[in-house]
Amino acid sequence: MALPNGIPTIELDRGELRPNALVDPFQRAITYLRVSVTDRCDFRCVYCMAEHMTFLPKADLLSFEELDRLCSAFIAKGVTKLRLTGGEPLVRRGIMTLVSSLSRHLASGVLKELTLTTNGSQLERYASELEANGIKRVNVSLDTLNADKFRAITRWGDLDKVIAGIDAAQAAGLQIKINAVALKGVNDEEIAGLLEWAHGRGMDLTVIEVMPLGNVDESRLDQYLPLSIVRARLAEHYTFEEIDYRTGGPARYVRVKETGGRLGFITPLTHNFCESCNRVRITCTGTLYMCLGQNDAADLRSPLRASGNDTLLHAAIDEAITRKPKGHDFVIDRRHQRPALPRHMSMTGG
Ligand code: SAM
Repeated sequence: MALPNGIPTIELDRGELRPNALVDPFQRAITYLRVSVTDRCDFRCVYCMAEHMTFLPKADLLSFEELDRLCSAFIAKGVTKLRLTGGEPLVRRGIMTLVSSLSRHLASGVLKELTLTTNGSQLERYASELEANGIKRVNVSLDTLNADKFRAITRWGDLDKVIAGIDAAQAAGLQIKINAVALKGVNDEEIAGLLEWAHGRGMDLTVIEVMPLGNVDESRLDQYLPLSIVRARLAEHYTFEEIDYRTGGPARYVRVKETGGRLGFITPLTHNFCESCNRVRITCTGTLYMCLGQNDAADLRSPLRASGNDTLLHAAIDEAITRKPKGHDFVIDRRHQRPALPRHMSMTGG
């Protein structure tokens, strides 16, 4: 909806309209911010990280106060959905301090959703606190239900701990969406099983194409499984009904008639979804990426630290949004086996 002068607006829960100050050159309103609160993780998923990663010195990370200021600046400019991610957001010590301070924007009604993406390893500990702070849904990344395979994919992960985390989250009343990356020769035979399991527990399932981000120890070509193939295989056993359910993210959903549950597809390689992109991402050091699949970025840490008031920060955000590109163009480089982009997903935040 637009105001009479054509400025796109955000409709708050109270029905009030607020101008959105973050409109990019392609007339897309930016309403969704993903914030990587740490580049560290307690897993080393083979498609996400190399086994031996060098992480940022802790002193380089923005403090919780600084992250809060950054997020609040985006919220003041029209962001209505905020996702904390990483690395693993729940391994940053004291993370609930940030969740709790950000939850004031839920209480005031300007933020419609505060959520997070997690590997689930710490959910057992934090589920109730998350719920108490206004979080209603979380995404849990889980690529297999086979404990040995889970260990092989994550290198360090313990499936039982993740399942216990999911149990705790559901018991606390959180809705869960399972995210599974489709990996050729690894979990392609298991997607149907994951679907039955997730839908049987009342959880949505989204499958994701592996993206060529950062150097990992394996070849991307060995990992890459187009979702067109996954979908065609599933369609041999299930009936998909088109639905227009959207969560503000890039997934396209169908309802699976046999299970009654929702199945999402995120297809950054086979089908580019940039025309409706409403997202930007901040790293834990305050770098703003206007697109997951491009290198251009804006430093927000300097304006943040240069002054106690937010004038410089707001100006830097406005300038960055004018540079949001039309889209990404991931290509898996077959000849040189180079990543499309040098930075890992754990850096930009998934
Ligand atoms: N640690 C949290 C988690 O596991 O969900 C949040 C960060 S993780 C980087 C976010 C999501 O990105 C996970 O679902 C992970 O599977 C996915 N991911 C990581 N690297 C990827 C890649 N190269 N291609 C596609 N998805 C990737």
